[in-house]
Amino acid sequence: MPQFLFLTIILILVADFGFERFLAYLNIKNAKKDLPEILRDIYDPEKYQKQRLYFRTNSRFGMLTSTFSFLLIITMISFRGFGWVDQLVQIYVQNPVWTPILFFGLLFFANDILSIPFDLYDTFVIEQKFGFNKVTPKLFILDKLKGYGLTVIIGGGILYLILLIYTLTPEYFWLLAWAVITVFSLIMTLFYSEVIVPLFNKQTPLQEGELRTEIEKFALKSGFNLTNIFVIDGSKRSTKANAYFSGLGSKKRIVLYDTLMDKLTTEEIVAVLAHEVGHYKLKHTLINFTVSIPTTLILFFVFGLILQSDALAQALGGTKASFHLNALAFSILYSPISLILGIATNVLSRKFEYQADAFAAKYGYATQLQSGLKKLSATSLSNLMPHPVYVFFHYSHPTLYQRINKLTD
Ligand SMILES: [Zn+2]
Repeated sequence: MPQFLFLTIILILVADFGFERFLAYLNIKNAKKDLPEILRDIYDPEKYQKQRLYFRTNSRFGMLTSTFSFLLIITMISFRGFGWVDQLVQIYVQNPVWTPILFFGLLFFANDILSIPFDLYDTFVIEQKFGFNKVTPKLFILDKLKGYGLTVIIGGGILYLILLIYTLTPEYFWLLAWAVITVFSLIMTLFYSEVIVPLFNKQTPLQEGELRTEIEKFALKSGFNLTNIFVIDGSKRSTKANAYFSGLGSKKRIVLYDTLMDKLTTEEIVAVLAHEVGHYKLKHTLINFTVSIPTTLILFFVFGLILQSDALAQALGGTKASFHLNALAFSILYSPISLILGIATNVLSRKFEYQADAFAAKYGYATQLQSGLKKLSATSLSNLMPHPVYVFFHYSHPTLYQRINKLTD
């Protein structure tokens, strides 16, 4: 049985890697096609050359990082590396709660440190070369340290709670762990903008001026409160622009990147904002949260069933069932299911994007939204020709081409 599970795990990892590389290959091939008529005005020839170079650079870099991760995990599993880490941890701590925490903590930090050279290259070589990067070495280090702090406090805290439940009531573990995760994600949805974002960025209310006046007009028409609109200093890290909606109920907010201001006209910004208000009016956050409730329940139910399996721990090089080894094996065995759930999530998300676009169009912003979206794509050197199969699996948003076509209908 352990041998069978071991081979299944290897097979899933190989299939996943092969499949992702195949999708990437399709995308690279598709990017060579000529742009459709309605997208030709986005790039001038020089900028288009730059975009192609950026895309090729990122594709190659993606190939490198995914191959590295793949080889690392295959090596760890083939040479029973996780079993070895488990034994190492057990020398120091033998406790049903703290052994798994130390095990995951060790793996997290080892993996994170190995990924630092890739992060550095991405930020200070690729993004720098194409003129996007604004991160200083000091900010890079600060972000890293804050990220570690959050992982230890939030990740460690949640893990501690879940392990405590598992130790105290193994039979109801799946139900209680699900409840903890659901409550936690509700708290995160509500307070993310107020608690997490300020650790990394500054958010300020809209300043007086032309933009505020224009937004005020729209806010009155659509019934969205102006006090829920903030500008964030995205320019601290990158020249790329964005906007997003977050939160629920009274905790809702729309966040506009300051980089949006110097790239888009006032009307285009209002159009982008109208799209975000659409997400709120159509209750997209609430639906997403509601959908995640049963999927998390299924996940924990299946997870609860296999936690006692000795064979699963042995497949990773352990001796008998342990929370951490079984959880790790489970996360790989579950990945075909999460692939399917991920596709469903993306299908729903793309549907929501169309709906939010239609909402902005209903308020008369169809033209401004199109030009705004085109500028956003152009300034971030986006790939305009992703392969449809790649889009189906990975895109949370429809392509620019699809969105413009829908908006001109
Ligand atoms: Zn959207």
